[in-house]
Amino acid sequence: MYSIALPDLDDDEMFARCIEYRRELEVKDVLDRLAPSVRNAYHCYTTYRGDPMNLSPRSWEREDRKALQSNYSLAPGSPFARYRRDLIARFIEKRCPMCGRGDVGTIDHYLPRSKFPEYSVLSANLIPVCGQCNLLKSSHFSTEAGRRFVHAYYDILPSHPVLIAHVRLNERLDLSFAIVEPPGLPADLLRVLQFHFNQLDLAVLFEKEGIRELTERYGEIEEAFERGPRDLAEYLGAAARSARKKCGVHSWKTAMFAALEHHEAFCAGGFELLLKGEDRQDS
Ligand SMILES: [Zn+2]
Repeated sequence: MYSIALPDLDDDEMFARCIEYRRELEVKDVLDRLAPSVRNAYHCYTTYRGDPMNLSPRSWEREDRKALQSNYSLAPGSPFARYRRDLIARFIEKRCPMCGRGDVGTIDHYLPRSKFPEYSVLSANLIPVCGQCNLLKSSHFSTEAGRRFVHAYYDILPSHPVLIAHVRLNERLDLSFAIVEPPGLPADLLRVLQFHFNQLDLAVLFEKEGIRELTERYGEIEEAFERGPRDLAEYLGAAARSARKKCGVHSWKTAMFAALEHHEAFCAGGFELLLKGEDRQDS
């Protein structure tokens, strides 16, 4: 999970270009007629920072709804298709902002296009995400407090971690993740983070990803341990710092290495339980 900068796009101009691109005169007319309402809706979205508690779906006429939704056109040459492609391309080296794990390959409408056709091509409503987050979030919409996903452009995450990892060594190595409340985190944002974490099933995804990462690094971990438990702790500390720099303070990787660095039993040889991976698949 991490925040991203709002795209620098003139949304009114993009809307005008979408109208210009249309060949069907009836659709052009509909969009021309709707342009002032859409500009007004864009203003509301920005004012309320996309918060569903303040932005209710409007009852659009069927023809109007269809025309607005169809601006989200992926046809080659459409102004929106070009913008979408460039937006995704900017994340080629980064992970999905919603989970911090998957590759960015698609766009999520933060307020779903089915309920808010006016925001079909509004840049602040278009979040570059991975396929799985897009699928799990789907067209979720609720006006209930806390029952929304983190808005990657508008929700300001704190500088202290909101995610921590726990390590348990029993028959095997177990990893678990949880949302915590760092100092100064507003109570409503904490509820949003917990909702986001639960709806996207991030605890399960992060555990799988963590075990995979550690298994892949087993040779390096073993090598560091051969020099002593302190060297292994240093290796894990360096991995935590590198993850923080590359993936951010709220990444599962940062949380995992930070927990392992201070886990005495893991550093004293407990990491060997990672070899129990086959048991994990069977359970
Ligand atoms: Zn994702």
